[in-house]
Amino acid sequence: MKKIFTAKHPTEAHMVKGLLESFNIPCQIRGESLFFIRGEIPITEDTLPTVWVDDGVEDRIIEEIMADFNNESASDLKAFDWRCRHCGEYIEGQFTACWKCGREKAEDKI
Ligand SMILES: [Zn+2]
Repeated sequence: MKKIFTAKHPTEAHMVKGLLESFNIPCQIRGESLFFIRGEIPITEDTLPTVWVDDGVEDRIIEEIMADFNNESASDLKAFDWRCRHCGEYIEGQFTACWKCGREKAEDKI
């Protein structure tokens, strides 16, 4: 396995995983559980969730997919930040679900 992406939080890692799986590229998220104990250990890249793919996947393909992901992230930056109604966590506008409790942003409208 090789690491292809370091996410800022578990939601971002899952977005990348979903994108890779839409291209039929099997992948794994590692370090996700460490994210939630980050207050207790020094914050380094090792405590962030990372996305891993099989060594056999060509770098060129990964680069193309990740370029798309980065473009989409950039274009979504205009979205307004929102606060999760369920747990009160402040969520960046480009995310549609709360990274803390997993509730969808849309549920807030109910
Ligand atoms: Zn929440």
